[in-house]
This record gives sequence, structure tokens and C-alpha cells, in this order.
Amino acid sequence: MAQNKNANQKESTKKFGRGANACQMCGRKQGLVRRYNIWLCRQCFRENAAKIGFKKLN
Ligand SMILES: [Zn+2]
Repeated sequence: MAQNKNANQKESTKKFGRGANACQMCGRKQGLVRRYNIWLCRQCFRENAAKIGFKKLN
């Protein structure tokens, strides 16, 4: 009954274990952007980047 391991994990990582990383929006595993703890595919990241306020790296 001592399951304190999950207590340390963030809520956002409840479903994403090791090797089970996928986009949190579309669930795609290809082209994941794991920068800034966002965990989105490049497409979703690109859309959210504009909303969040990321600068365009161009
Ligand atoms: Zn996505």
C-alpha cells in the first residue's frame, strides 16, 4: 500500500513513462519537441509556440 513513487511525479507525467513519450495533444510520437518540458510534436509545438509566446527561430 506504499505507492509514494507516483506522488513525486507531476500530473502531466502520469501517463508518460519511460519510452512512452508522445505528443500530449495529438499523441504522435514522431518529431517530438521535449524542450521546455512541453512534450508536443513539432506541429502542435509550432501552434502552441505562437500561443505561449515563443519567439520564431528564423
Ligand atoms: Zn501533436
